[in-house]
Amino acid sequence: MSLITDIKVEIPDYNHMSQVMVYVTSESGHVGVGEAWWGIPSADNPGSTSIPIANVIEHLLAPRLIGKSSRTIEKHWFDLWDYGYRYADEGIFLMGLSGIDIALWDLLGKELNTSVCQLLGGPVHEKIPGYASLPALRDPEVVLSEVKRAMDAGFFAVKLHELDPIHVHNIRREFGNDLHIMVDVNGHFNKIEAIEVGKELAKGNVTWYEEPVRPMRDHAAIKEVGDRANVPIAAGENEYTLKNFEQILQSKALTYLQPEITKIGGITAAKRITGLTELYNTALSPHNMRIGPALSASIQWGFNSPMTAWQEVPWVRYEFAAQYKLPAVEDGYVLPPTEPGIGLIK
Ligand SMILES: [Mg+2]
Repeated sequence: MSLITDIKVEIPDYNHMSQVMVYVTSESGHVGVGEAWWGIPSADNPGSTSIPIANVIEHLLAPRLIGKSSRTIEKHWFDLWDYGYRYADEGIFLMGLSGIDIALWDLLGKELNTSVCQLLGGPVHEKIPGYASLPALRDPEVVLSEVKRAMDAGFFAVKLHELDPIHVHNIRREFGNDLHIMVDVNGHFNKIEAIEVGKELAKGNVTWYEEPVRPMRDHAAIKEVGDRANVPIAAGENEYTLKNFEQILQSKALTYLQPEITKIGGITAAKRITGLTELYNTALSPHNMRIGPALSASIQWGFNSPMTAWQEVPWVRYEFAAQYKLPAVEDGYVLPPTEPGIGLIK
């Protein structure tokens, strides 16, 4: 047995794309690194929107784990979940729990000198197709040059965060029909607009249309958009509990499910969602838009989940770079992690 001796939370000062980092130390001397959801980016006051989530970890969760065993992650998850239930079972509390949980799995892997994927039962896949996930760029020339930069790095799939379908047509004209193109509008449109945009995206043969409509969790509206525009739909990054995931899968709105590991409760919650994707025969594509523990943990999970179809790989310019490197990607495929824990690469 190894007891947890220290838990720290940090909001690194990179830029407006902040992160909420969690460090859990045990008597073994190892430090597990995790990440909670980062908050809505603030250009004016970078990091400020992450503070409420960091506070959950520092003031509600961490004090309840000090002195406990680092080997009983499942028990800790349920004890903290039970404790926090009166703060609500979705939202900021679960984001904080996600950061703690990922750090605990990283710590356990380091203590046992094996990868989290191995702890979960080992990889199901030899490699996973990755897609380069571009930030919102808006300028047509910049979109094309960033797509080209991703293709030059070996990617055969890109995701845009653009609202105007013209960008898809531009990319098709410039780079042909073989490239996979995903389009994420983050729930920007009302239902009527979302259907019209979806029809245009269908003409560009997109691989999926992501969070097409607001509110983002209106499952019936999402299904109607997909049906009427005849385009595959991806969503799920704003769902939280196992019950939420059951509900969105029951709606039959989705071709691709995209849980965000920093919102759902970390790896302990993720392994339950694996079972749901099998039960509802739905492709899994773990969501993530940061380079660091969230991406590494998502990859460990993705390799262990039979239904994994794609892995999101943030494709950000140098000024958004964090303290960690992208994981191994070869010819557009994410390779199995081998390092202990979640396999962060400095
Ligand atoms: Mg998204």
